[in-house]
Amino acid sequence: MLKRISTLLLVTLILFGSLSAAKRPKNVIFLIGDGMGMAHIYATMVTNGNKLELERCKHVGYSKTYCANRFVTDSGAGGTALATGVKTRYGMIGMNPDSVAVESILEQSDRNGLATGIVVSCAVTYVTPATFIAHQINRKMYEEAAADYLKTDIDVFIGGGRKYFESRKDGRNLIQELKDKQYQVAFDLDEVKKINSGKLAGLIHEDQPPAMPERGDLLPDATMVAIDILDNNKKGFFLMVEGSQIDWGGHSNDIDMIVREMLDFDKTIGKVLDFAEKDGNTLVVITADHECGGLTLVNGNMNEGKVKAYFSSKGHTGIPVPVFAFGPGAEEFTGFMENIDFKGKIEKLLKLK
Ligand code: MG
Ligand code: ZN
Repeated sequence: MLKRISTLLLVTLILFGSLSAAKRPKNVIFLIGDGMGMAHIYATMVTNGNKLELERCKHVGYSKTYCANRFVTDSGAGGTALATGVKTRYGMIGMNPDSVAVESILEQSDRNGLATGIVVSCAVTYVTPATFIAHQINRKMYEEAAADYLKTDIDVFIGGGRKYFESRKDGRNLIQELKDKQYQVAFDLDEVKKINSGKLAGLIHEDQPPAMPERGDLLPDATMVAIDILDNNKKGFFLMVEGSQIDWGGHSNDIDMIVREMLDFDKTIGKVLDFAEKDGNTLVVITADHECGGLTLVNGNMNEGKVKAYFSSKGHTGIPVPVFAFGPGAEEFTGFMENIDFKGKIEKLLKLK
């Protein structure tokens, strides 16, 4: 009897142990839909036959996006909050309000031996990706942001922005410097897709990649290449993926562009969730840096998959943005959060020092 009880106790302990161990992710994939509010998501859902891949995330919350000096933030301060856990001044990149550089979750992951990556549908030197790797007082310092990539050991970065690496005022050829640091440098998506190990700099457009549909599958395909490479690291990885141009559809008050860019982002989310589901050790977190356009759906037709959009702004608005999470630790990303809470939560889950 005693033996049976102790066996039962042992089994319970093992089960409990493996359950609590399963709660900690090894990898984190952080997806940011720039300018993506709830109406952007719902407009796309309706247009897409009342479904989206991101609905597979059962943990949902809200993120408050205001920055240190303004109610309505930009992608500089918004990205810096998500990346570094600090509310900073409008337009700043990876710095606190006193213009002091602060470490991003990507840099911290790198310092802790994780593999790291950035995949975006804008130039890699543009605002949101820059907040994860650069430290500059102004979001328009693209050449400086390019040089900041060389200061890190990031394993994979894919997007546009080639010219900021090779046609520079300071005369430096960062493409050569990347090669000297053992990076494989690829200038188109087909080249990118051939690489599955080592370090990769994919600079597949001179500046900003075109909008959808001209861009093709840059975002979903490059994201899967990055995951393939980063997953070689036994200690795990941190990957940031941005659907960069959803925001630009908001600025132009163009509902069709928003839906096209959102569908591209959602396709990427679907592929990421497929990986995370199979892997079992990957936490996926999806959010936005701010809303854009003040988008309202004043009417629509579910059967026809149509919405009637009304925009109240040509810029960003201050409304909280939705958060979706999937995988071990996903339950941490529910309810109302500050945009500076993500870094600490991820840091804790990955046990970063
Ligand atoms: Mg952005
Ligand atoms: Zn914007």
